[in-house]
Amino acid sequence: MLTSISGRSVVVTGASKGIGKGIARVFASKGARVLLAARDIAQAEAAAAEIRSQGGIASAVSADVAKPEDNARMARTAVELYGGIDILCCNAGIFPSARLGEMSLADWSRVLDTNLQGMFLSVDACLPHLKARGQGRIVVTSSITGPITGYPGWSHYAASKAGQLGFIRTAAIELAPHNITVNAVLPGNIRTEGVEALGPEYLARMTAAIPQRRLGSVEDVAYAALFLASDEAAFITGQTIVVDGGQVLPESHMALEDL
Ligand code: NAP
Repeated sequence: MLTSISGRSVVVTGASKGIGKGIARVFASKGARVLLAARDIAQAEAAAAEIRSQGGIASAVSADVAKPEDNARMARTAVELYGGIDILCCNAGIFPSARLGEMSLADWSRVLDTNLQGMFLSVDACLPHLKARGQGRIVVTSSITGPITGYPGWSHYAASKAGQLGFIRTAAIELAPHNITVNAVLPGNIRTEGVEALGPEYLARMTAAIPQRRLGSVEDVAYAALFLASDEAAFITGQTIVVDGGQVLPESHMALEDL
């Protein structure tokens, strides 16, 4: 049993759908006060209302993580609503597909600006408030794609997700004197709105590639994030937890066919 995070102020980016919404819901179910950020405010408000209807404390803010001023507004809103920030979950991300030779500089930049630079901007905006608490948690949603695996069409995405791990390892050192830990969860294939949009053929092929023979749930990732945000994880920093049902383990197709 983890020490309660009840009352903690939590900012989750990309929280109107998918994994971010799952993180917000699970943290709120443990008594945390959550601020859900996304660009589409109507969808973020709806997600916050859903959490409130289940008894949680949740609000929404419109923020594009790629924009410094939006991250500043997000941090300000959390402080106004909840009196500070204890936990930042940098989860916002996009995964459009484009192969090399077709990928434009604009395609590359949009993914890096959102996934990698957006994470930096969210941390930068929330950091003074995390420091002010005397302790804090930063949990980044990276991916197996980039840090461990590759997939055609996702070289920009993979670079952004591997880049996040480079970031957390140095940020963890810099922020250790402030009792702020910086860790990442690395999801495999998780059933979210974004992944559903990749189509039934992708979902079927991915399910077949996972030893547990199912896609992950958003809760599977949220509980790993919850552990990293807990008091019990105080001595863990600059580290990663893979949440993938064993997807990265088979050394060949045969390992799965022989199951
Ligand atoms: P999703 O279902 O597409 O949801 C993405 C969320 O991010 C939405 O709330 C979206 O809302 C928000 N978002 C996108 N761009 C944003 C921006 N510029 N500023 C603020 N919010 C933004 O995606 P998901 O599958 O849950 O993925 C969430 C994270 O997990 C991503 O970082 C992704 O790379 C990572 N991940 C997912 C999987 C998976 O299998 N699902 C696997 C590995 C890693 P708006 O569009 O309204 O902004």
